[in-house]
Amino acid sequence: MSRFFSEKYNSLVPYTPGEQPKNTEYVKLNTNESPFPPSPKAVSLAQKEAEKLELYSDPECRDLVKTAAEYFGVSENEILFTNGSDEILNFAFSAFCDETHTAVFPDITYGFYPVFAEFNGIPYEEIPLENDFTVNTDAFCGVNKTVFIANPNAPTGIALPLDDIEKIIKSNPQSVVVVDEAYVDFGAESAVSLVHKYDNLLVTGTFSKSRSLAGGRLGFGIANKELIRDLNTVKYSTNPYNVNRMTMAAGIGALKDNAYFEKNCGEIKKVREYTASQLKAMGFTLTPSSANFIFAASDKIDGKTFYLKLKEKGILIRHFDKERIQSYNRITVGTKEQMDLFLSAVKEILKEQI
Ligand code: PMP
Repeated sequence: MSRFFSEKYNSLVPYTPGEQPKNTEYVKLNTNESPFPPSPKAVSLAQKEAEKLELYSDPECRDLVKTAAEYFGVSENEILFTNGSDEILNFAFSAFCDETHTAVFPDITYGFYPVFAEFNGIPYEEIPLENDFTVNTDAFCGVNKTVFIANPNAPTGIALPLDDIEKIIKSNPQSVVVVDEAYVDFGAESAVSLVHKYDNLLVTGTFSKSRSLAGGRLGFGIANKELIRDLNTVKYSTNPYNVNRMTMAAGIGALKDNAYFEKNCGEIKKVREYTASQLKAMGFTLTPSSANFIFAASDKIDGKTFYLKLKEKGILIRHFDKERIQSYNRITVGTKEQMDLFLSAVKEILKEQI
């Protein structure tokens, strides 16, 4: 830290993103990217747009907003695009939390929430997940704090039924409830259907996972127009051109190629179930995942060692040094071929343990 760094960030511990190795020798199952390339429609629209890069992008993202509003069945003033969904989550912490209206989220969830809270100087509470890693819905009811719930949750992959999400929203009418649906397309019910019913609901989503655009950085929020206006106030006070031209075009292409999106989500779900059953057969304990990753532990090998041994064999998964989940690892669902490579490496590692 230099002597110039603001004191307000003295205790800030930044988020640690998953490894992004330069060489492609690794089977990369560590950051929940899609193993499939973006839709050809997304690529060709982005390529065309590259020819106009001398001009700023449209701060209102009008073409993309129009396409997305139709796609999600909302009005154009009920949606906002951002540079990945990390950006809209950060905006939500800035817009809807402060010293008096603090934040609350589960103790085991997306690791960026406490960082955003710290960064924005917002006190926060972490409510422990149950022993089976499910969210304790009742504990989030009537909390009168800004609630952040990832559904499905990360890194567990466990989804909350929409009824439970609705209970949390309904019981906190004086607070915004942010439902982070980064992984919703792999098996959970979306809360977008509730935005016209509750004025305190913000649903966030991303094109990074199910639409293969992690490197494009495209996220969004859907909520009633007042909440979207607040988020726009934050956006226009920080970075009005937050979505670049090529990404905006790619986003339109991705939304217009729904068949490709559905095929890929279907394949991921199939390969997830296949991988899960193989891991179970090898004695692993798994949470029931509705996401594009599997959360697994074995009593034959500790979590960190398992991660390191797989890395030696050229396979990257994600280990979190957090006490409650130290025996677990998060494994992104790749192609069937990638998962077969992973599974045979796992077999070898378990054999070496005997
Ligand atoms: N929410 C959750 C739960 C995530 O796991 C991630 C991915 N790291 C994000 C949001 C942010 O993804 P992105 O910024 O790529 O949209």
